[in-house]
Amino acid sequence: MAFSDFRLNKTLLTTLQQLNYLEPTPIQQLAIPEVFKGADLIAHAQTGTGKTAAFMLPIIHHILEKNEVSSLPSKQVSALVLVPTRELAQQVAKASESYSQNSQISVACLYGGANIGPQEKKLAKGVQIVVATPGRLLDHLIKGTVDLSQLTHLVFDEADRMLDMGFIGEIKRIMRRVPEKRQTLLFSATVDEHVINNVSQWLNNPQRIGVDAPNTAATKVEQLFYAVDEERKRELIAYTIGKNNWHQVLVFTRTKNYADELAKELNKDGLKTQAIHGDKSQGARNKALEQFRDGELRVLVATDVAARGIDIPSLDFVINAELPYVAEDYVHRIGRTGRAGKVGTAISLVGLDENWLLEEIEVLLDERLTPQWLAGFEPDLTREPKNNRKNTAKSRKQRDKKRILGQRSTRRRKKN
Ligand code: AMP
Repeated sequence: MAFSDFRLNKTLLTTLQQLNYLEPTPIQQLAIPEVFKGADLIAHAQTGTGKTAAFMLPIIHHILEKNEVSSLPSKQVSALVLVPTRELAQQVAKASESYSQNSQISVACLYGGANIGPQEKKLAKGVQIVVATPGRLLDHLIKGTVDLSQLTHLVFDEADRMLDMGFIGEIKRIMRRVPEKRQTLLFSATVDEHVINNVSQWLNNPQRIGVDAPNTAATKVEQLFYAVDEERKRELIAYTIGKNNWHQVLVFTRTKNYADELAKELNKDGLKTQAIHGDKSQGARNKALEQFRDGELRVLVATDVAARGIDIPSLDFVINAELPYVAEDYVHRIGRTGRAGKVGTAISLVGLDENWLLEEIEVLLDERLTPQWLAGFEPDLTREPKNNRKNTAKSRKQRDKKRILGQRSTRRRKKN
């Protein structure tokens, strides 16, 4: 199948050739014709399968066709993509800009934690596509610096996560300001029926499409699990990267503190490393990402929220220094590798106290995941496990869950 089979606008076909997109990915093959039909859509697609182009190409086609005569697009916002994090906003905006590079279409990227002034200036010049996180979009709507009254396409990208992060209130307020008559597309890498039900109120008889069963890990990713003592994780990470001579490795941690600590230690081991997390300024995060993409950094340590939306096409290796509290995050993490059909490796280090987290991933993936021992890093089984009496796996789990639930609404909302 070729992109020309979709009868895409000629300008778009030229752009796709320039981008070296030879053929549509499976999700693009399924979604593009549906979007063309005008139907609302719920699409399940694994991370890195080309979902941005799956919704953005038909949207750009629509804008181009609408403005064919004048060739200069109207200054009205035609499409809005709502995303959960600023990193994903930047990534989707960047992709949208590249897909519209041979046209006059202008894209605004609106997210919090950054000066609102430049965003207002960009909007004042007139844009056709807005990519935004809910909180900052609402700021602009209230100030009257963006007008969505002519919107024709609304996309919820990573919708499950957006609601999971407590944005339902903001989204409800945004939805009051978009036209009733529009096409609404919902894309999600992981699927939570409860969340989908929440969003269904804004979808009109949606078609459901998906390339893979929901919640499956990216199939091209080799998943390895090593049982290792907590305090030897840093050593194992440095050893693995050095021994295999890996040059671009993304390492995940659960907490900001551990991300910083690990980055510091890996630098001492001679591996050029930076950490990104919610306490770092947007500038610092962008700089670290750029250095990582350019190969100046060998290791990037990231927390889940900070890493959401990172697109590094050539990434081959992901290491989970700690398993995530939320099993769906595991799918997102390892989805950073094996993108666009490439093969990747994801190594997860499982401490003695993390077995219950591994179990949750097993349940989500419906797969038996058995940690191996790496020679020289075998866990010390003679030691008293931390989870004795007062610290049983169950009570830890309950405590951790309480903590996460308590943090989610405040912490994640604050970060956006
Ligand atoms: P996404 O899932 O939208 O984040 O896309 C993942 C990666 O695949 C990005 O680097 C895209 O540039 C790339 N990509 C998307 N569609 C195609 C395609 N049809 N051919 C080649 N690469 C693609």
